Amino acid sequence: MNKLQERATDLLKGGTVKLIIGFEQGNNKIRPFFCEKPEDAEKLIYSDDCSTNNAVYLTKKELIGDNKIAIIATYKEIASIIQLNKENQIKKENLMVLTVDKDGDVTELTSFEEMEKFCEENTPAPDPVVAALIEKIDKMNREERWAYWKSELDKCIRCYACRAACPLCYCNRCISEVNCPQWLDPWKSTLSNIEWQINRVMHMSGRCTGCGACAKACPLDLPIGILTKKMSTDIKEMLGEGEGGNVLSTFNPNDKENFIH
Ligand code: SF4
Ligand code: SF4
Repeated sequence: MNKLQERATDLLKGGTVKLIIGFEQGNNKIRPFFCEKPEDAEKLIYSDDCSTNNAVYLTKKELIGDNKIAIIATYKEIASIIQLNKENQIKKENLMVLTVDKDGDVTELTSFEEMEKFCEENTPAPDPVVAALIEKIDKMNREERWAYWKSELDKCIRCYACRAACPLCYCNRCISEVNCPQWLDPWKSTLSNIEWQINRVMHMSGRCTGCGACAKACPLDLPIGILTKKMSTDIKEMLGEGEGGNVLSTFNPNDKENFIH
């Protein structure tokens, strides 16, 4: 047993936590693993190679209830936990955040300051493919850009895997499903596909951590990750680092437009 598996065994045996969310080796790839029994702890592995962002499970009440749980976290889970905490979606006292360093040593991050520091020190390098695509689209004129997105989003099958994969898409009722009023056609069509992505990106504005789980979950490999990425960059440019935040729930009473009054 490695140090992670030993720590997990102790935590479950001693009753410190009821569940450990981590990763295991699947048939073809690494997959999420929900470890509840000490005898299963030896299946746990630590990996950055899992496309799933396991923080998505932290808002699933049916999975974690009011129990104390542990999550074996990489950069993407920790960035999401920080954002979920800002949005009051997690009880930190019920959550143990564990990381594993290159020597296999397990560290518990006990405060948000430690988590912020971890993220600063472990921010992944920008994906050159994503950066190149954003640059290419930036150079397009308005008509070309519209044609590009129309053609890409026309392929969307509205499976909502992008929504399911995102730790910050946690509403119990999504705008895509309400029918009173009916915001989006429930079936696949170019217009409603575009409306769906505009809605998704607007709701993520200032909140998206750039983990990439949505794009990786898309069965059609649509470049939806760059929509949220570009939105985040634009918000920072337009509103500044400090004022970006969740733009849908942030307002300035002195706004020059009169809609606020
Ligand atoms: S990159 Fe995608 S999955 Fe990750 S936080 Fe942003 S919208 Fe959600
Ligand atoms: S995962 Fe891809 S195909 Fe499915 S709804 Fe999202 S963009 Fe469309």
